[in-house]
Amino acid sequence: MTKVGVVEDAAGERLPRCRWCRRVLPPSAKTGRRRQFCRQACRQWDWVARQRARELELSETDLVVARSELDALRDDLYVLACAVDDARRDLAAPGKRSERELRELLDWLLDAAEPLHNREIARPNVPT
Ligand SMILES: [Zn+2]
Repeated sequence: MTKVGVVEDAAGERLPRCRWCRRVLPPSAKTGRRRQFCRQACRQWDWVARQRARELELSETDLVVARSELDALRDDLYVLACAVDDARRDLAAPGKRSERELRELLDWLLDAAEPLHNREIARPNVPT
């Protein structure tokens, strides 16, 4: 099973991830520089975000996020946390679970996790 937050290959090596979207990068060509981005759009958004950070005099560790984006992320995390709590409570209750009950529990958890699985952080606002 995959450790939470760590992406490794079958040999346990940490896989390089895109600097912008954090997806696992496809294997690099044998020659040339190591890839930092999964696609050209990620390279561009990372560049735009760094330009904006420079304009706003942010440090490397500071980040500006739209409130609506952060609220949506918090909402999805809250839904997942509630589903995890429900699943833990159901599994801790005495008695044996049928295959159908376990399947429903798993579907409930997957439905709660799906929005986070598919989430993309919106691209930065570009001043006009
Ligand atoms: Zn990417």
